Amino acid sequence: MSLAPLLINSRKWARLRRVPTTADLEHLLRGVSLRVTRPRVAVLSAVHDHPHADTESIIGAVRKDLPKVSHQAVYDVLRALTAAGLLRRIQPMGSLARYEARIGDNHHHLACRSCGVIVDVDCAVGAAPCLTASDAHGFTIDEAEVIYWGLCPACSPEPVPEKTR
Ligand SMILES: [Zn+2]
Ligand SMILES: [Zn+2]
Repeated sequence: MSLAPLLINSRKWARLRRVPTTADLEHLLRGVSLRVTRPRVAVLSAVHDHPHADTESIIGAVRKDLPKVSHQAVYDVLRALTAAGLLRRIQPMGSLARYEARIGDNHHHLACRSCGVIVDVDCAVGAAPCLTASDAHGFTIDEAEVIYWGLCPACSPEPVPEKTR
């Protein structure tokens, strides 16, 4: 299978998604002209495995592969991978920065005010930016980022319908 579906057709990401191999991750790094290093591969792998993880969680995951990697090394790799467009950084208000490997598709997020869980939402309507600014101030807009705040089903006061009483 070629790597191309990982990079294009991102609206269909969910269907094409698979666990990337180390070779895939190295290919992604070379594709953005980043040298392949073990910390970069490990961080990329950790974010693929744990979407919307914060930095501490990513450090924990990376240390399973590379026990001696420093906090600073992981911060630096996250910054480099985000700048290269391999990772997307989101920062819900009042929350730590989170990282994800689902990039380039202008998807949005649901955030639970109570437990902090974050869930992907595809574009609501139409193509990116799938939101119309009331005044674009002359900007050519190509992306919009929405966080829908509320309570997840587990945190909602109403009983979840599937649950038996
Ligand atoms: Zn919740
Ligand atoms: Zn997401």
